Amino acid sequence: MSSASISRPVRLARRQVCVLQIESNILTIDTNFKPNSSFADFELNASLLRALAEEKYQTPTPIQAQTIPTVMSGRDVIGIAQTGTGKTAAFALPILHRLAADPRPATRRNCRVLVLSPTRELSGQILDNFRTYGRHLRLSAALAIGGVAIGKQVRALLGGVDVLVATPGRVLDLVKSNALRLGEVDCLVLDEADRMLDMGFIHDIRKIVAKLPAARQTLMFSATMPRAIADLAAQMLREPVKVAVAPVASTADRVEQRIIRVDRSAKPIVLIDVLRREPIDRALIFTRTKHGADKVARGLNRAGIAAEAIHGNKSQNQRERVLAAFRRGDVKTLVATDIAARGIDVDGISHVVNFDVPNLPETYVHRIGRTARAGADGVAISLCDGEEVAFVRDIEKLIRMSIPVSDRRTHHARAKEQPAKTKDGRGVANSNAKPRRRGAASRKKGRRDRSPENAAGLGSVAFLNRRAPPTRDAAATAPRWVGQLEGS
Ligand code: ADP
Ligand code: MG
Repeated sequence: MSSASISRPVRLARRQVCVLQIESNILTIDTNFKPNSSFADFELNASLLRALAEEKYQTPTPIQAQTIPTVMSGRDVIGIAQTGTGKTAAFALPILHRLAADPRPATRRNCRVLVLSPTRELSGQILDNFRTYGRHLRLSAALAIGGVAIGKQVRALLGGVDVLVATPGRVLDLVKSNALRLGEVDCLVLDEADRMLDMGFIHDIRKIVAKLPAARQTLMFSATMPRAIADLAAQMLREPVKVAVAPVASTADRVEQRIIRVDRSAKPIVLIDVLRREPIDRALIFTRTKHGADKVARGLNRAGIAAEAIHGNKSQNQRERVLAAFRRGDVKTLVATDIAARGIDVDGISHVVNFDVPNLPETYVHRIGRTARAGADGVAISLCDGEEVAFVRDIEKLIRMSIPVSDRRTHHARAKEQPAKTKDGRGVANSNAKPRRRGAASRKKGRRDRSPENAAGLGSVAFLNRRAPPTRDAAATAPRWVGQLEGS
């Protein structure tokens, strides 16, 4: 993260901040809560305040206002807030404060804080944030991710570090080769916690947690939290304070979302058309498969739109090079699989395009959250063919809003299918269109891909006890925290 990326001062919209604490399943909403208007109010270490001033962070975001004091007090926290609202600093600042308040010489091959995230790129970004905020403190931090030589990481850990940011697989490799011990971890962070606890990662996480001291602080953060995963999370937390600053799974307020109904075969052409027509600064295009990402990138290049692809089949070196070029703005169009869906914070992504609609609705929330970050605006366009209508319906249910639809299908296809828009114009969510056979099958597959915990259904940790889900209209029409220049 560069300091240039935080040029925008932010202002809090106080009315939008609510604190939800669930203790023994009893929901209390602290309506008297007044967020701190300055980082100094938290009595954070002066060196941290200095770094924040240099980064031009003026006002804590709502999730920061709520979680920083709680984490400083040593409590476990589960923090839910929309994408791009500063969750990293919400845990990194109080962790650095606590480390600085209790300086200890590092113990060989040990770390005091372990931060886990689902992708190598996100772990690298979190480490950068720790280094940025902690630059005036005498603390050490290291990165342990797969896909790169392990030797350098082993050497970095030899003398011990204060903070280790990692992906789970590499942590286990390092533990196995005796390069890392986890017996002195005071604090465990799971960023993108619902992803870390789903089927893809839960086994590794369980193995890691089993090696950690029982007496530790555990922090979990995400923008989404399916209920079944929240139950699993609760097993790893001790009397946690649960903080949600907007209904769980709310999309970032400032993303303008659109759906374009298309024939499957016309997607490449419609994509090119969208990229030519839209006022794009930087576009991130998501595809379902690695092969699809390459194919879309090739098609764009052929059409004269310079694009690169990033996915799990590329070498780590290539992944890092392409992402760095995208961050710098040298690459303006990046085609990615969901390895780029979570957490990645690149300034100036004006557009997210879903070339394929994701089959997990939470993935949609995270994908479109790559735009409209830190108070900026953004546009998210999803190309939806007949087989993806059902996915859109799931998405609209999760985010509690309907997404405006425009139709670019041929007349022929339109006649064959039920229209996406109903008479009241409320869009796909209210359409009676049934997914065709293949759609239903892939939808089922999507469901199968979910973890068993997840399969029980979606719900929100914060609203378990509400009779009706909160209406999106009431919660999110106004900007939440916006650039001062724009907002006041
Ligand atoms: P999240 O994890 O919630 O998606 P990040 O932690 O990646 O969000 O932060 C999003 C962006 O907002 C980053 O570029 C970060 O530097 C910036 N940011 C975070 N907190 C503040 C703040 N208090 N003031 C200004 N910018 C901030
Ligand atoms: Mg994040």
